[in-house]
Amino acid sequence: MKSHRILLFFALIFILSGCAGSPAGEPVVAELPAMDTLMKLTLYGENAQAAAEPAKERIRELEGLLSTTDENSEIYAANHSGGAPVALSGDTAALLDRALQLCRRTDGALDVTIYPVVRAWGFTTGGGRVPDRAELDGLLERVDYARVALSGSTLTLPEGMELDLGAVAKGYTGDVLMDLLEEAGVTSAIVELGGNVHALGSKPDGSPWRVAVQAPEGGYAAALEIVDKAVVTSGGYQRFFEQDGEIYWHIIDPAAGRPARSGLASVTIVAEEGTLCDGLSTALFVMGADRAAEFWRETGDFDFVLLDEEGGVTITEGLEDSFSLCGEWAGRPLEVLRR
Ligand code: ADP
Ligand code: MG
Repeated sequence: MKSHRILLFFALIFILSGCAGSPAGEPVVAELPAMDTLMKLTLYGENAQAAAEPAKERIRELEGLLSTTDENSEIYAANHSGGAPVALSGDTAALLDRALQLCRRTDGALDVTIYPVVRAWGFTTGGGRVPDRAELDGLLERVDYARVALSGSTLTLPEGMELDLGAVAKGYTGDVLMDLLEEAGVTSAIVELGGNVHALGSKPDGSPWRVAVQAPEGGYAAALEIVDKAVVTSGGYQRFFEQDGEIYWHIIDPAAGRPARSGLASVTIVAEEGTLCDGLSTALFVMGADRAAEFWRETGDFDFVLLDEEGGVTITEGLEDSFSLCGEWAGRPLEVLRR
């Protein structure tokens, strides 16, 4: 299932950008498996070659800090701290601080302490099992982002609680890469980290990047034109298992301890900050269309594309000029949300 996912992501940029003419100068392409997906960096400009290796190194460094399963990671150390204070690196502290803000802002639809529940469903091992209600209720007593104490770079996690930054780690990694590439003098780049796409500048010829929104059934539902933005999608189809005819996916509603069934098939968030996009793509998937629309109207420093399970499409007004439905989705009903 994983390799299937990776292939789909890889096709995203190329199919859609292929028709727009060849850019000035060949790009430097760097690929590496990291954070449970395949990552691909396409860099343009005279400094592209020199930037590629440091960029890959930085990805490996962040993976080494943020993994829940690597016994040498900072998150693993925090999750096995037995309630004692832990000193975090600048990266882990910065990401956790930002993630906790998003947990508060989404009223716990994003909850970075969801790990005991994610593990009980088998999503950490690739397997899958359906825990019963009593087990989930017991585990949910250990889930509450508000009990995470982060003071500067010192984290105190109550005993029994465990962090999972899986919903925001790739978004943060994209932000770090955009800064690194810009500082290295790369003028134009597109970075694909699983379902996350980060664009630095525009294409070398000055036109916007075209990024696909995947259709839940495979192929593409839509295309988005972006410059200097991140586009992050969370979808139930990205990781799931089936048991007794039921589909169980990896995005959990922290209020229920079960996979979020809000009527949405995917949520795509578009904004400059990747961490925000990543956190909100997960959170708005949990909220469902109505709450997501309300949340956008209240806070709106981002745009979104919602694909619902009935095949309906909702976008926010900021995307109106850069969004188009593709292929079989071209005739579907499209709702544009306005403030
Ligand atoms: P992906 O990792 O497939 O791009 P997401 O960004 O939506 O997808 O993150 C999903 C991951 O985040 C899950 O695999 C799990 O580790 C974790 N997670 C699931 N539900 C939540 C939640 N409500 N809040 C925080 N993290 C979650
Ligand atoms: Mg996410």
